[in-house]
Amino acid sequence: MTESLVAPGRPSDHLWMHFTRMGTAERNGVPVIAGGEGFEIIDEAGRRYLDALSGLFVVQAGYGRDEIVSAMAAQAKKLAFFPLWSYATPPAIELADRLAGLAPGDLNKIFFCSGGGEAVESAWKLAKQYFKLTGKPGKTKAISRAIAYHGTTHGALSITSVPGFKMPFEPLVPGTVRVPATDFYRAPEPLAGDEAAFGRWAADRVEEAILAEGPDTVAAVFVEPVQNAGGSFPPPPGYFERLREICDSYDVLLVSDEVICAYGRLGTMFGCEKFGYQPDIITSAKGLTSGYTPLGAMIVSERVYEPFSVGTTTFPHGYTFGGHPVACAAALANLDLFAAEDLLGNVQRNEGAFRSTLERLLDLPIVGDVRGSGYFWSLELVRDKGSKEPFSREDCERVLRGFVAPAALEAGVYCRTDDRGNAVVQFAPPLICGPAEFDRIEQALRPVLSQAWSLL
Ligand code: PLP
Repeated sequence: MTESLVAPGRPSDHLWMHFTRMGTAERNGVPVIAGGEGFEIIDEAGRRYLDALSGLFVVQAGYGRDEIVSAMAAQAKKLAFFPLWSYATPPAIELADRLAGLAPGDLNKIFFCSGGGEAVESAWKLAKQYFKLTGKPGKTKAISRAIAYHGTTHGALSITSVPGFKMPFEPLVPGTVRVPATDFYRAPEPLAGDEAAFGRWAADRVEEAILAEGPDTVAAVFVEPVQNAGGSFPPPPGYFERLREICDSYDVLLVSDEVICAYGRLGTMFGCEKFGYQPDIITSAKGLTSGYTPLGAMIVSERVYEPFSVGTTTFPHGYTFGGHPVACAAALANLDLFAAEDLLGNVQRNEGAFRSTLERLLDLPIVGDVRGSGYFWSLELVRDKGSKEPFSREDCERVLRGFVAPAALEAGVYCRTDDRGNAVVQFAPPLICGPAEFDRIEQALRPVLSQAWSLL
């Protein structure tokens, strides 16, 4: 019998993990990751795995970067903490300036928070107050897409479209509305095969929702450039152009939720740049510091900011740790690394190779679709490729969660299996990766997926 690559899980009597079946964790333990170096993570027993998910779409520049660590240490020594409540700090000012320079168009007001959900929460509250200040107090609702995940605080969770995550906490914040995701693989029949027509159809569903709710009641549309939950749905051509047109027609703010897609994930600094649209607000977090410490940023257009700059008006909203000086120092050092190592260029040069390497797996009967953009890709697993028959709930439980997830780790690759929509395996490696790591992913997953097929 070969020795298992994966260290036996260590149980904990006291640690309550997130989104985790604690009963199972108590029984079986969980892998304990104790170190990281470059694009690899290292467990307690010293075994190394390729981190094909950047932790959780976070560690863009890789692990163990002295440049970021030193900048954080220097800042902690100089000024470990001060809030942004009527005061400012040099790293927060410098980072806001830097982000304003990087963000497209007039997106140049930066409101810091501590993470992605807080950025989404902030954006919805900002949109509501913006319309109160501009004489349209009835515009309060938020539109989002099916299956999309936008965070877990009450407001962000209300915008989230994963029923299982919401049900335990009902009633949630009222006034959220759902439209279809851009799942071209499963486009409704008359649109299958015609991406542009599907994109037009999907964007028009937003207009339909605005009209059904009443334009005077809708404040904002929340969309990711490439939607994560459901499996890296890219926008069809023309989708965002039409969405921008619709938002302008009905005075609805377009919020680009780039908690995953900003900071190089798609090969551009911001996801909207990849698809050529101009949002009113960008929500971001994760890759901003490459995860060396938590930080989120809501990036707001001059136009939306303007009514808040008048008289005694305040946005009565904030977080003690929003724009923490050590986090801002980490982000500045991280962005320096992006420039010094041309991380955006690395993604742009290699995304085609990543795609074609993953597409090799399409020769397996279980792989129905390969989709994504930049360094953000998913495989959709199916029971039958011809009919696109999806995994059943039981398949997801037994094969996806029960086999594929642990077997991929066993094969030396940390990635994510997800069944919030149909069954997918997701890859989002650090931006320092290249073709050798893509091959490692493909070679590890091939036998795992072949065996998974035999279990269906
Ligand atoms: N929005 C999107 C698109 C996300 O992917 C996530 C988290 O994965 C969030 C919001 C919530 O971010 P956080 O977990 O930092 O609160």
